[in-house]
Amino acid sequence: MPEEGKLIIFSAPSGAGKTTIVQYLLTKIPDLEFSISATTRPARGDEKHGKDYYFISKEEFLHKIAKKHFVEFEEVYSGTFYGTLREEIERIWANGKAVIFDIDVEGGLHLKRKYGEAALAIFVQPPSLEVLKERLTGRGTDSKEKLQERFAKAEKELNYAPQFDIILKNHDLQTACIEAEQLVSDFLRK
Ligand code: ADP
Ligand code: 5GP
Repeated sequence: MPEEGKLIIFSAPSGAGKTTIVQYLLTKIPDLEFSISATTRPARGDEKHGKDYYFISKEEFLHKIAKKHFVEFEEVYSGTFYGTLREEIERIWANGKAVIFDIDVEGGLHLKRKYGEAALAIFVQPPSLEVLKERLTGRGTDSKEKLQERFAKAEKELNYAPQFDIILKNHDLQTACIEAEQLVSDFLRK
């Protein structure tokens, strides 16, 4: 059984900027390693299996649920599953690194409840729902139908912010990245 380490959780509604901030932190803090989630959605753009996600079939996902391979999982969008594999967290801790997550709001709170003080849970807050919609549309990765689904979920998820350890405002991206770097560095030093 590998020794337990720390966890950094970035959650937010889709489009708030968490992937951008997490990717920035990975270039700046060598003690972090990204938790690659498993998902049943197809890869988009230049996403790679084993780098961005483990892209697996629904059958394989359900099999892993049955075998209790997930620390948490969600049907984040109707018919599309995402989950964190226990093995992934243990692999990263065995490398002597802290795990950083880019995960939906319910999944983030689930991990925080499970790992307590070993976890820092950060909610990335966009300036407004309108700006969030603009960012998500501007990213250009989702169909009109998928965008509507993401907007509807985002509106509900914004209400979860107070349940996190920290609310990180993402108005100006550079400011948010620098603040995130400070918060994470301080937590890792504790
Ligand atoms: P999430 O991972 O939360 O879904 P992304 O990191 O993919 O969000 O960001 C959504 C879009 O918004 C991307 O196109 C990203 O470049 C852009 N973006 C992120 N932060 C900002 C910001 N502070 N100002 C303007 N655009 C931003
Ligand atoms: P996307 O399809 O944009 O990559 O991700 C959709 C949503 O699923 C995002 O909010 C993302 O953070 C979340 N997500 C990614 N991996 C996981 C995971 O392992 N568990 C949960 N609960 N959500 C995840």
